Amino acid sequence: MKSPFNIEETFHALQQGNKASLGKAITLIESTKFEDKELAYSLLGRCAPHTGKSIRIGVTGVPGVGKSTFIEAFGKYLIEEKGKKVAVLAIDPSSQRSRGSILGDKTRMNDLSVMPNAFIRPSASGSSLGGVARSTRETISLCETAGYDIILIETVGVGQSETTVKQLCDFFLLLMLYGAGDELQGIKRGIMEMADCLFINKADQNEMLAKSAAKEYSNALHLFPPKESNWYPKVLLGSGLNARGIQKVWEQVLDFKETTDKNGFWKANRKAQEHWWFKEYSKHMLVESVTRTENWKVISADRKKDIEEEKLNALEAAKKLVSSIELHLKNYL
Ligand code: GDP
Repeated sequence: MKSPFNIEETFHALQQGNKASLGKAITLIESTKFEDKELAYSLLGRCAPHTGKSIRIGVTGVPGVGKSTFIEAFGKYLIEEKGKKVAVLAIDPSSQRSRGSILGDKTRMNDLSVMPNAFIRPSASGSSLGGVARSTRETISLCETAGYDIILIETVGVGQSETTVKQLCDFFLLLMLYGAGDELQGIKRGIMEMADCLFINKADQNEMLAKSAAKEYSNALHLFPPKESNWYPKVLLGSGLNARGIQKVWEQVLDFKETTDKNGFWKANRKAQEHWWFKEYSKHMLVESVTRTENWKVISADRKKDIEEEKLNALEAAKKLVSSIELHLKNYL
């Protein structure tokens, strides 16, 4: 039977920047069906030579800090003033529970979403953080093939997803509130350490407080060890709502790109990410392929029976299952 999804046609439609095809291609790579995976990998293979040219910017911060408002203003600025094509993607670990998504609410990013040179895609819901991150990575490749040169990856700054987002982006922007009582307002030190730029948002509400917070954060950043990139993160202030300070953020991104292109970090970071994903994919694929085999199904049914009959506990059953699989694998290892 002929597959309804044609790789070659989709690839050419992507190259022409067709948004409907881009949407369909993303749905394909997000699918958990085995048959779809094979198709998805073929499409990604076809796209591979056309990827890697965008600037990938992670945008994080606690819920309510103003991420979507900022992204809308930043995206519009990049499209209208800089002639860019902007894709907005989201990584949302909470979507698993709510089956919603941080970008799912259609009322958000109203202006940006109707711009021909913008593409907004909510996070895939219902899968694990690892699964969402993998499909986000693949979505980046599809967007790059479709000519998007700036990719904004939104994530909630609560700590779980940032380390993964770091493996997807070149530049990491942390949005902050001021006067929230707690100096670090629940933002873990580790996340601040990862940031390439801090943006104190909502400065329109109280300029004085925002300025003094900026100073405080700036002092705090000086205490952190120097970064591998040799980049010194700046603390900026502004307002996503009034599109203030947006241009300065872009200047920081460009400055970062120039600096790290020169000192080699840009390329080295992309390569380190490639190694990280190699490990991640290998582990994932290994589990997928082993657990699909007949052997696995039979042996794991036996161990389930052991648990049912109270012969083994969970740990013992898992150990026994894996050692019998290892016996089968020995010939290959
Ligand atoms: P997110 O949860 O981080 O995506 O935050 P939103 O962008 O949804 O913003 C949360 C609330 O803060 C909304 O009511 C926004 O209108 C408001 N907001 C966002 N940015 C600003 C800003 O720069 N200034 C002010 N005064 N309010 C803002």
